[in-house]
Amino acid sequence: MSERTTAQWQAADAAHFLHPFTDFQLLAAKGTRVITRADNIHLWDSEGKKILDAMSGLWCVNVGYAQQALIDAATAQLTQLPFYNAFFQTATPPAIELAELLAEVTPPQFEHVFFCNSGSEGNDTVVRMVRRYWDLLGQPARKLIISRNNAYHGSTMAGASLSGMSGMHAQGGLPIPDITHIEQPYWYELGRPLGLSRDDFGRLAASWLEDKILAVGPERVAAFIGEPIQGAGGVIIPPATYWPAVQAICERYGILLVSDEVICGFGRTGQWWGSETFGTRPDLMTFAKGVTSGYIPLGGVMVGERVARVLIERGGEFNHGYTYSGHPVACAVALANIRLIRRERLVERVREDTGPYLATQFASLKEHPLVGDAETCGLMGAVLLVMDKHAGTPFAAELGVGMLCRGHCFGNGLIMRAVGDRMIIAPPLVITRAQIDDMMALIHRCLDLTWADVRAADGG
Ligand SMILES: *Cc1c(COP(=O)(O)O)cnc(C)c1O
Repeated sequence: MSERTTAQWQAADAAHFLHPFTDFQLLAAKGTRVITRADNIHLWDSEGKKILDAMSGLWCVNVGYAQQALIDAATAQLTQLPFYNAFFQTATPPAIELAELLAEVTPPQFEHVFFCNSGSEGNDTVVRMVRRYWDLLGQPARKLIISRNNAYHGSTMAGASLSGMSGMHAQGGLPIPDITHIEQPYWYELGRPLGLSRDDFGRLAASWLEDKILAVGPERVAAFIGEPIQGAGGVIIPPATYWPAVQAICERYGILLVSDEVICGFGRTGQWWGSETFGTRPDLMTFAKGVTSGYIPLGGVMVGERVARVLIERGGEFNHGYTYSGHPVACAVALANIRLIRRERLVERVREDTGPYLATQFASLKEHPLVGDAETCGLMGAVLLVMDKHAGTPFAAELGVGMLCRGHCFGNGLIMRAVGDRMIIAPPLVITRAQIDDMMALIHRCLDLTWADVRAADGG
């Protein structure tokens, strides 16, 4: 890469680079932040500023940056065989080995995988696959897929349709037909005002699925899809009663259950899969992000035997696939990544050590005058900033308190994401207790600075 000053990078960026989910004009005026290198849980920008990455890149760099095993795996595979496809009744050793290893680290109902390059493509594949499944079973009317408001399932046409983001649906004529949404299991916003306990609210939120199934007619419903914990929606951790009730409803109506594990998979919640943490038995699981710790793009769908047997034994040719389905370099990196997760016992570490430690630290955030709620699951966490913590009154959205806080985070060398006024984290699974202490000190400082701003605005 050429050597340039930050201003030169920013000028070229503004002139040519349209960023994802970005107001192009606003960013061009402000100037992008240029990240130039990384190690373990830290990033450095083009000004030499060191930043603690409490978001693992974008929920993906689970083993941290600069892991030599992943770099070596990519280099060796690039040298040996940089590409060959899986279309021509051909395969490469890394793809075969990864398929085998995924069957091993996923719950027992999974023996097969379909490879893609991203979570969005994985969910597009899910839509194609569940509709094909019901066609093959002679129930072609079962086309409808039920998802949830404020879900995130990607940004391709099907991914964005499954997502429950009104801003996305407003652009490009979405959702596509036969995708519908129910309300999310967000206790603070929907259960607390009703005076419901978390557990009672969990059962109520699950009952909305049954209401929807009955409203549209069970014979039309193909599948229900959900993230075990909604990530991009703001780390919405459902009550413990929610998922088992959803599972029971899916079983009652014979509907396929799809767990979008793009964030929760590979140890984020303290188990290999979010579905294990929440006690469901999905028929399909989408994965991406953590499968390679983001070192190279890869995604896919774990296909449970219920669906796989029908596709294999009755399906004939499945008319779907990508040039890079099973890309050997991506699969080699995934193999090295999963072996590293096992060798370092990262899932156990999250479950038994760093996850519980983070939970205690987050509990203390609830004392802060700005904080209405603070919760974690494994190494995902959210802090909700509110105007009146006792009444639970939110700030007016125009105030942009979350973005204000995010600005302080950047300024103080911490990456925390703002989803409205929910400040969220998902640090690398390699984070140590001492590093959690560093992160918490930064979080406290940024909350104090935000509180000072809010009070100054009040006084003025
Ligand atoms: C990020 C994400 C996706 C989309 O993955 P891409 O690789 O960005 O296409 C899908 N589902 C969930 C839950 C995600 O967090």
